[in-house]
Order: sequence, then structure tokens, then C-alpha cells
Amino acid sequence: MKRLPEKGATWVEVKELLQASKTGDSEWKRGRLPLYVYWRDDELCQVAREAASMFFMENGLGKKVFPSVQQLERDVVAMTLDLLNGGPNAVGNFTTGGTESIFLAVKTARDFARKERKAKGRLKIVAPLSAHPAFDKAAHYLDMEVVRTPLRQDFRGDPKAIENAVDDKTVMVVASAPAYPHGVFDPIEDIARIATVKNLWLHVDACVGGMLAPFARDLGYDVPPFDFSVGGVTSMSADLHKYGLTAKGASVVLFKDEKYLDYLRFKFSHWPRGNYVTETFLGTRAASPVASAWAVMHYLGREGYQDIARTTLETKARFEVGISAIRGLEILKPNDLSFLLYRSNDKSVDIDAVAEGMSAKGWFVGRCNAPPSIHLMFNPVHAPVVQEYLNDLASVVDQVRSTGRIGSLDESTY
Ligand SMILES: *Cc1c(COP(=O)(O)O)cnc(C)c1O
Repeated sequence: MKRLPEKGATWVEVKELLQASKTGDSEWKRGRLPLYVYWRDDELCQVAREAASMFFMENGLGKKVFPSVQQLERDVVAMTLDLLNGGPNAVGNFTTGGTESIFLAVKTARDFARKERKAKGRLKIVAPLSAHPAFDKAAHYLDMEVVRTPLRQDFRGDPKAIENAVDDKTVMVVASAPAYPHGVFDPIEDIARIATVKNLWLHVDACVGGMLAPFARDLGYDVPPFDFSVGGVTSMSADLHKYGLTAKGASVVLFKDEKYLDYLRFKFSHWPRGNYVTETFLGTRAASPVASAWAVMHYLGREGYQDIARTTLETKARFEVGISAIRGLEILKPNDLSFLLYRSNDKSVDIDAVAEGMSAKGWFVGRCNAPPSIHLMFNPVHAPVVQEYLNDLASVVDQVRSTGRIGSLDESTY
């Protein structure tokens, strides 16, 4: 078993060991990963990294002693609120990721309903089948229940099914912008109408779309209304460490009105150190992701993010054209923003075998199991590898067609 070394080593030695530990990792910088790492170039990466290291030792818990961190955090929240049409009373919080943003929204909705709506017992969240597992994780911790409703034929959440699933224990309804499994927006205006009529909290999960959709819209792409401009949206989550291209550990949770802050906050004073108040799940918090997000947002500006959106969506379009041209494969439709899924439309092309063949060529293959398909999600890191991927895919499909099934793929690819 690994034990703490008796004697220390030099940084040179330790650094070598760290470097060596990466040998089995995915070659994300060669565009082999369709998720987890969002990257444009070394220059942007250096901004994100240096800003993070400037705030390496500070602590986000110490609001009074690090006014810098508090101000950077306020600025990042204000900029995202502006992008997502927060309006004059909207507020928000910097968090460590989509999971924490969603957790905090669920906790706030629950406590708000308990106090202001006199809701009692095990309270429920109604969400389309495609919503992120973070809602179930939050519900698990908060002793709530998630009721998942079937999707429509177009993979979007079904407002009717949501409406039917709502009962007197329901306190929150969820919509995604877009949802991860099929990469499509839920019909947020229709879901918002139901939430408004039934007086329910509506959370829009824009973890993926929050820092991409506004810029795609600037470029003229068709983006449905999804943010606070839709009446009835109570809270949103938007990840900065995805299409914000910042250091990891960066997301925001946003609320339509400051009155919800009372239910977000955790206050405690029954210990010998007086008042302890936080508005996040964590206590001690890294300030690095805050500084990194602030720096990258200032470095890129709206134009920089428009460029990233352009590169991302043009890359997707090239993949789409290329994959459509391979006999035996078809693109799943619809697909929104940066997502693209494809499947087999030919009995002699087994999609599991295609997945296995691509993985053998070094591509990490994301899978959707309903319908069985291969899941891609693009960012600028993929722009240089379009042709390489398409060539590999064409040859794998040929091979599968001529040799039949290669074998079964491990399903736990996520
Ligand atoms: C990534 C993601 C999340 C969770 O975010 P983490 O940063 O991984 O915690 C939530 N919702 C959607 C739609 C996502 O894509």
C-alpha cells in the first residue's frame, strides 16, 4: 500500500513522477476527448492558468479579508447575469461546478417552498428523463425525490408529461438548455407556462448552453428563448469551466430575485466562534477558479466568445457533413448547439462495433443508449482533427461491414 515517504524528494524528481503518471491518460490535446476538457490554444490556456496561480493562496471563504476575491466573484456573476438577461433584481453565486450550482438551486427551492408555501414531507422535483444526474444527487442529499418524465419523439422534454407528473408534493420543475444525452433544448417557454400556472420553481440548467448559446445567437444561429427573458424561470446554472474555457471549478447559480438569497444562505452561530454564514456548499474555497474566470472573460470579451462559438459550430458542421457522407451512418436529428449524435441505419453496420473500432484507434467514444448512438460534443480543440476522425470513422465502418461485429463495448464509458 502507498505510504507517505519517510524522506522528501526534490521538486525536479516529484515533477517527473507527476508527468509520468499521465502516460495512460487520454490525449485530449489531440482532440481525442469529446468532453471533460475545453481548449482553444496555449495562449488562452496561459491566461487561465496564470490568473489562477495569482490567486493560488487566497481563500474564498474569507470575504472580509479578501475583498479582491469577492469583487471578482461579483463581476463574474454580474457578467453572466447580463448574458442571460437576469434583469434588475437578479442575483447569483460563484460555485465550483454545475453539480454545486444545481445542488444550491434545489436546496433554495426546497427551503423556499417549506417556508413560503408551507410545503411538507418528502418534496419532489419533476424533470425530463434527459436532465443531468446532479438533480438526483441533490435530491438524495436533501431527502427529496426526482420524478423523471418521458421525452417527446424529438428527444426534448414533454410539457404534457411534466404537467401530468406534478402533484401536491412537487416544488420544482427542471428544463435543460440543452440537455446532455441528446444535445437538445427542452421547450422552455412551454415548461415555464406550466410552472407559472402551478406556481412552481423552474430551474433552467444551462451548464452547457450558458456560455455558448448567447454567442451562437449573436452569430445568427437559431437559439430558442431559454434564459431569464422567459417569464417563469426562477433559477439557472451555467458552467464557466465548459464553454467559458476557464480553469475547472467554475460555475454560477443565478436567481431571478434577491429574495431567494435568504433560502440559499446557511447560517449558524451555536459554537464558540460566533456567526458562520455561507452561500455555497463549501467552506474554504479556492479563489483560483474565480480569478481564472474573471481573467478569461476579460481577455476574450464578447468577440472572443463569439469566435469560440463560431469555431465550435463550424467544426460541428464539418463533422456533420462528413459523417452524413459515410454510407451506413446517419445523424440523429434534431441536435442543438455543439452536440452531434450518429447511429447506424444499416443492419450490416453494428454501432457498438463502430464504437469499439473508434476506441481502438484512440478516440474516446461517448455513448447514448436510447437510441443506441455515438455522442459527440465539440469545442475548439476538435477543429484540427476533423479529417483525421472522419478518415478513421470511414475505415472503421468499412471494416465492420466486412468483418461483422468486433465485440461488445464496456458500457460505462462516461
Ligand atoms: C456538465 C453538466 C452538469 C454538471 O456539471 P459539473 O460541472 O460536471 O458538476 C449539469 N448539467 C449539464 C447539462 C451538464 O452538461
